[in-house]
Amino acid sequence: MAGRKIHSFYKGIFSGDVLNFSKRSPFVREIMLERINPTRVILPMKMHYGVPCVPTVKEGDFVKAGQCVGLPDPKSFSCPVHTGVSGRVTAIKEITLPNGIKTPAVFIDNDMKKTRLESLKSRGNIELSDQQTIGVIRDAGICGMGGEGIPTYAKLNRARNYAVTDFLVNCLQSEPFSTCDLTAIVEYPDYVVSGACACARACGAKNVKFLISEGRKTERSALENSIKNASDIFKDLDLRIELFRERFPQGYYRLVAKALYGKELEASDTLEQSCSAVLFNCSTMLACWEALSDNIPMMNRILSVSGNESGGHNMLVPIGTPVSEVLSSSYDANKSESSVIWGNCLTGIKIDDPEETPIIKMTSVISIVRNNEIPTTPCIHCGLCSECCPMGLSPNIVYEMLVQGLTQKAAEEGARDCISCGSCSYICPAGIDLATSIAGFANQGKIIEVNSLLHNGEFIQSDEASLEASKVGQASLLEEFPDKEASEDKKDPDSIVLPFDGGKTV
Ligand code: SF4
Ligand code: SF4
Repeated sequence: MAGRKIHSFYKGIFSGDVLNFSKRSPFVREIMLERINPTRVILPMKMHYGVPCVPTVKEGDFVKAGQCVGLPDPKSFSCPVHTGVSGRVTAIKEITLPNGIKTPAVFIDNDMKKTRLESLKSRGNIELSDQQTIGVIRDAGICGMGGEGIPTYAKLNRARNYAVTDFLVNCLQSEPFSTCDLTAIVEYPDYVVSGACACARACGAKNVKFLISEGRKTERSALENSIKNASDIFKDLDLRIELFRERFPQGYYRLVAKALYGKELEASDTLEQSCSAVLFNCSTMLACWEALSDNIPMMNRILSVSGNESGGHNMLVPIGTPVSEVLSSSYDANKSESSVIWGNCLTGIKIDDPEETPIIKMTSVISIVRNNEIPTTPCIHCGLCSECCPMGLSPNIVYEMLVQGLTQKAAEEGARDCISCGSCSYICPAGIDLATSIAGFANQGKIIEVNSLLHNGEFIQSDEASLEASKVGQASLLEEFPDKEASEDKKDPDSIVLPFDGGKTV
């Protein structure tokens, strides 16, 4: 690989410092994938950007793993919800997620029998048009697993509408102590690569680029092998790996645009319009291939659990698993001197009740961090926060303006560009929590932005067509998707052939 270009953006927190956990933590070197079968699941009807689902089950119903338990209005911007366990619905009631979202949730007691829907099986070789591919992904309830939570079918539709040329797969997991995406690559590289190829075809992109840190040698070699195999099958696509310098936060679309295309994107710019590219998380690609090849909806995810009191490892958990069930049995929330964080230790949210807080589709890590009382002093004007802010802000100045209520001035200083990475708070020697204030202000603006996306129809222009791909309103959406044999006589002349190996059991 000598002489190969290494992409990078300016600033951020650099590799080699304390956050470069992969060189310090033994668990990352021997990535383990434990499978959890929780005693119950709590399935919120809203785990994604978009409108909440409506429960399709009622208290007392028996459900099988893979069954749809929440459906949105078919024309809305949303994702259906499926259960990853079989058992009895014990309650449907409103809960409040740690991020403040109030949502109805379906509570299911696991009967531990792992009874699955009969339809959850490998499809073998099937033919899907691009709209059918997007339709399966929509029905499988897949949304961005890297934390953005945008319904994947909607992003694919938008990429298709913009006729993007580059399909970017984010394999750049750089959040501290989070290795679930890297585990997905090592454990299921063929699924990640095939999912990316199928999705790229569905949105018409010809170049598939896997973005990965130069230091991730094991993951790179797994990807390289799978790309070699996939290149013989997806001959119409150009598959390649793009190396990035390891630093945090990597993978945010505006930083990727800067590093890969040398373009500075404004908050209102999109990758699709500015760079003719679309960016997806690698775990999302794994979920897409599970849906396309094995008919498995989004009912499980890989989760990193890290912290002194709970060890550090990766687990395959049903969505909705209470956080308490992924913590070590020796962990006692009442006696512990540590806090449980829903997310990574820089940007996550502290949770008070691990028993009633579920792992949702976007939860990639549960961190257990020691309660250290850091003494706070006034700003010493060291400038470190400005040096590390990847968005080029002067966090100390913006923070001061927000404290004084000068929100208009803070906005003019670029506060709305904050991506909530937490680097400024982490680096500040005065112990000032700059990120919470700045990110809180920036996120108010983002809620407005997302709402406008929901209403301008940009994401759902092609939805009418994809709705034809499957029937909506059944107990399981995927159940109704026709097998190859059943659909042979009504072949779409524009359909593409997706070669499925299948056979993976999750
Ligand atoms: S101001 Fe925002 S983007 Fe900049 S370092 Fe702080 S949290 Fe990150
Ligand atoms: S890092 Fe902290 S002490 Fe240094 S300039 Fe920023 S706010 Fe002030």
